[in-house]
Amino acid sequence: MSPTYDLAVVGAGIVGLAHAYDAVTRGLTVVVLDRDERAVGASIRNFGHICTTAQTGRALELALVARERWLQLGRKAGFDVRECGTLVLARADDERAVLEELAASRGADHVRFLDRDEASDLPIGGRDVVAAAHLPLDLRVDPRTAPAAIARWLADEGVDFRWRSSVASIEASGTSGSATVRTSRGRVTARRVVVATGHDIDRLYPDLADARAVTRCRLQMLEVAPPGGVRIQPAVLTGLSMLRYGAMASTAAADAVRQRFATDQPELLDVEMNLMLTQRPDGAIVLGDTHHYATTPLPFNEEQDAQLLLREGARLFGTDLTVLRRWSGVYASSPQTDFLIEAPEPAVRLVAVTSGIGMTTALGLAPTVLSDLF
Ligand SMILES: Cc1cc2nc3c(=O)[nH]c(=O)nc-3n(C[C@H](O)[C@H](O)[C@H](O)COP(=O)(O)OP(=O)(O)OC[C@H]3O[C@@H](n4cnc5c(N)ncnc54)[C@H](O)[C@@H]3O)c2cc1C
Repeated sequence: MSPTYDLAVVGAGIVGLAHAYDAVTRGLTVVVLDRDERAVGASIRNFGHICTTAQTGRALELALVARERWLQLGRKAGFDVRECGTLVLARADDERAVLEELAASRGADHVRFLDRDEASDLPIGGRDVVAAAHLPLDLRVDPRTAPAAIARWLADEGVDFRWRSSVASIEASGTSGSATVRTSRGRVTARRVVVATGHDIDRLYPDLADARAVTRCRLQMLEVAPPGGVRIQPAVLTGLSMLRYGAMASTAAADAVRQRFATDQPELLDVEMNLMLTQRPDGAIVLGDTHHYATTPLPFNEEQDAQLLLREGARLFGTDLTVLRRWSGVYASSPQTDFLIEAPEPAVRLVAVTSGIGMTTALGLAPTVLSDLF
């Protein structure tokens, strides 16, 4: 007989792990079920950018809680959480105006504005840089290793991990208020269930996904060799990032940035490029990204998009780049909500970050979901 757990979590990406972590801190018994041998979804394919300051509203509130939890987890689970912040480069006067507005609205503790002279020493961007901003609260983790380190630590804390166990259905168990989770390796019973299956929420709950117009966003990514062995601690964002993240996209100055790209480089807006990068512990630069939305995205990487990324990346570094790896990643996306939380049964919560900021917010979201569920 399988034991009855307090909580079953479906999905061992960062959203599932965040809920398992919060449950452990509450003293609950937890099982995590994942269809794969280890997490290989969005949570290991991203930049590892904990992009706190550029969020607004609820996302910012969740991100501030998540930030503290990343620091706690890094210490407990023994992985590196870099308190190195983010560098946002302005390479045009309209981009500088966005950073000035951001700095004025957030204050010096959150945004340090760098004028052209101060920015001239930066290891990236060269003479194109007219100003920059350092966002000191932001963090960086290595996404290839951090989720695995969290899972190992949770297992040491008593969480059962059942890998290669694909969940087929979740059924409420009569009047007991618990649920039965049917997996490819048998049944699991739990008082409560959190379903954190990332972009595959429509597989288990197609009607809920349809009601929220959930689709898949597919991003193309590159890993390139660091030119001249350059080391860049902070994550690096650019003018295109100013069009994506709420705190910058909502400035009055952002309109001019969009207009300029629409006129001068419409091909970058066509692929929804967010030109940004982070450096991995071995020095390799993760460079991205482009966005393509579809219910079922085609599996093919577009070389044209990769070449656009390489062209813009080369401009940033002032030299051609050598590609080490290419991949794509997918996250759930909804035009209606940034955070999808549904209760298909009283004992079950379906949780997905539908805005591409799961690394930044999931650890802040989980406590709110579990407080409601228990
Ligand atoms: C390329 C890319 C770059 C990004 N960069 C950033 C960034 O820098 N900062 C940031 O904040 N966010 C970033 N994001 C977004 C972030 O990565 C996601 O929001 C987050 O990882 C989603 O986590 P998840 O746990 O929901 O999904 P996933 O990590 O995809 O995990 C879902 C898990 O569910 C499992 N699963 C699915 N169906 C079943 C089933 N039926 N039975 C059992 N298991 C199942 C899967 O095997 C998988 O392990 C990026 C995303 C991508 C794709």
